Amino acid sequence: MLKKIGNTLAYTGLLFIILRLFLSQSFIEQYYSNGVFLKIASIQDFIFGILPFSVAILIIFIIGVFGVRKLFVQEHGGSFRDWVFRIFKWTIGLAGWFLFVWGFNYNRLSIEELNGFKTAPLSRVELLEETEMVTSNLIRFYEKNEEQIKSQYDFIEVDSFIPYCKQLINEIAPSLHLNPRKNITARQLKPKGLLLKFSTAGIYFPYTGECNIDYGLHPLQKPYVLLHEYSHGLGIGEEGACTFVGLIAGIRSNKAIIKYSVLLGYWKKLYRQINKVDKEKASQFRKLLPISVLNDIESIRKNSSQYPDIFPKIRNSIYGTFLKSQGIIEGLASYNRVVTLHYHYRKAHPAHEKWLIHN
Ligand SMILES: [Zn+2]
Repeated sequence: MLKKIGNTLAYTGLLFIILRLFLSQSFIEQYYSNGVFLKIASIQDFIFGILPFSVAILIIFIIGVFGVRKLFVQEHGGSFRDWVFRIFKWTIGLAGWFLFVWGFNYNRLSIEELNGFKTAPLSRVELLEETEMVTSNLIRFYEKNEEQIKSQYDFIEVDSFIPYCKQLINEIAPSLHLNPRKNITARQLKPKGLLLKFSTAGIYFPYTGECNIDYGLHPLQKPYVLLHEYSHGLGIGEEGACTFVGLIAGIRSNKAIIKYSVLLGYWKKLYRQINKVDKEKASQFRKLLPISVLNDIESIRKNSSQYPDIFPKIRNSIYGTFLKSQGIIEGLASYNRVVTLHYHYRKAHPAHEKWLIHN
């Protein structure tokens, strides 16, 4: 029985892998991202949305236990060749089905192609301009809304931010030429640190269509990370594009704590980039922030330090290689593309600035 399932998975999986080599970007955009994927997602949301627990973790556990057994326990009478073939078969099956249920989206049109704006790597001057703009907005926004932000922590603690962020992402989707996903499932994974210990704040699990974030994240990180995962759920593979879509959605929120969470998350990304090229400039930007914002940054750092990475290098090299295999040439550096995307998007859409500036 298991052998039959394995064979069917492997043959169909192989077919999807071969298809991936021949399908054009525009074909994938039109028929997969705007067709087949939406049907798959709605079935996943219907099945897995009603369950009270994360099936993603259950599947990872089963595949883990089953995989380890298959890897290390040689069946009685089976040859070494059979054993290698079996591993190969299951790998092809899982990889091919990964593409079918979500992964073809890696090869759809990019977010800038979908929205008709051009991007080019930012010069130092442009990066400084973006950081200056975001820093001044963050300061102005915080000073105007400090009390509201402090009084809205409950909104995160009682999980109300989960359906609220879903609404935000679905509202922004059509204006970014993406399809909303009304019933997408999101969960906080327990125990705390389950993902963080693998240098991961959240994960979209393609086989079940669930967005998961680590329960141990600092409350101020949760909306920023969840909006990123929801963006994956809309059929975006690229990391920078997901943060970009989440940022645009969060900035439009009229819940102060949500807007603060995404502005702060984005500011930290900019700070890290500036810090790599000009430490002094980075420290000048940091000194401009109100003391309460600096305290929040410190509190996030302290919280993260409770979950040290178990295998930081292994995770980074596996995920970096994986992203490259899906056509994301920059690998892990693609996370930083949010800055380039946001800079060029706001230049092409002056109306967007009003959301940044508007309290
Ligand atoms: Zn991601």
